[in-house]
Amino acid sequence: MTIACPACNNTDQVELKETYQDKQEIVWQLIECCDCGVQFWHSDKSYDFVYETDQVFYSNGILQNKLAVESNDPPWHLRQFLQHPPHSQSRNRTLLDIGCGEGLFLSKAAVLGYKVWGIDPNPRAIQMAREYLKLDQVFISDLNRFARTKPAPFDVVTAFEVLEHQKKPREFLDQIKTLLKPGGYFALSLPNRLRYRGRIEEPWDYPPHHWTRWDPSALRRFLESAGFQIIQHRLDPPVERLMPYLNLGIGSKLLARQITGSTQRLEGVKGPNSHLPLIKRLMIIKDRIQRRMLYPLAQLFKLLGYAGGTQYALAKKKFIEQGES
Ligand SMILES: [Zn+2]
Repeated sequence: MTIACPACNNTDQVELKETYQDKQEIVWQLIECCDCGVQFWHSDKSYDFVYETDQVFYSNGILQNKLAVESNDPPWHLRQFLQHPPHSQSRNRTLLDIGCGEGLFLSKAAVLGYKVWGIDPNPRAIQMAREYLKLDQVFISDLNRFARTKPAPFDVVTAFEVLEHQKKPREFLDQIKTLLKPGGYFALSLPNRLRYRGRIEEPWDYPPHHWTRWDPSALRRFLESAGFQIIQHRLDPPVERLMPYLNLGIGSKLLARQITGSTQRLEGVKGPNSHLPLIKRLMIIKDRIQRRMLYPLAQLFKLLGYAGGTQYALAKKKFIEQGES
């Protein structure tokens, strides 16, 4: 096979791991690069469907995002950055979030003091970010188009659950490097392909949604070979995986009712309410109790060899690269 790895451009050492036929009857091959360890989907047919503008599929998170804004409980991968930001003094530092969606992360990063920018190809998500979270530097764009506007380099670039959607991850990372100041930080999250022992059964981990699969060592190699120094690299603990199973959604429904007036009607919402302290507080307390309750079960999962489902990494762009003067 002469197929180039999209992460390291290696062409001579690849191994077929799995095949998959999609709804259009296109046959895909999951190939592992023996050089860098990344797995990627390959087909001989060209494929034009652009998933990012599939607004129905990618707008389902809007209510969840509103709830997360209101309840102050963003998902694990966002908390890793927000609880351990790379700058102790972030005032006036600039941050670009690629694939910012409705702006949940940006709104929290702004509270830390960052001057936030965001891009996302989904127009509805950007509209929500502007109208609901009052973010102004958010744009309907992909990374290439945004980079062509030659913005001033950023202190931080983030891309949560984005890398695995890229057909050309190497080009994507190189583009991010050009947008970062020397010594700037890149934070990202993506699925851990070792989360299942057998075949992955989640439909979104197949084309046209995810194009690559990464284990922890492939991710590290990828970042380091591009001149980044890894500052943090974590897998989510088992308790995070178990949390949704204990969620009856009662608190969420109450909160949704408060936010929207009805759990059904989501349009025309004017902005986060600041007068919901009691429900917010109750939800935070409930989550804490849930995490404690799940702890013994989570330990059992660990003993059974459970691997984390999500990887989070924070990497620093080196000041001077080898080979540069
Ligand atoms: Zn490779």
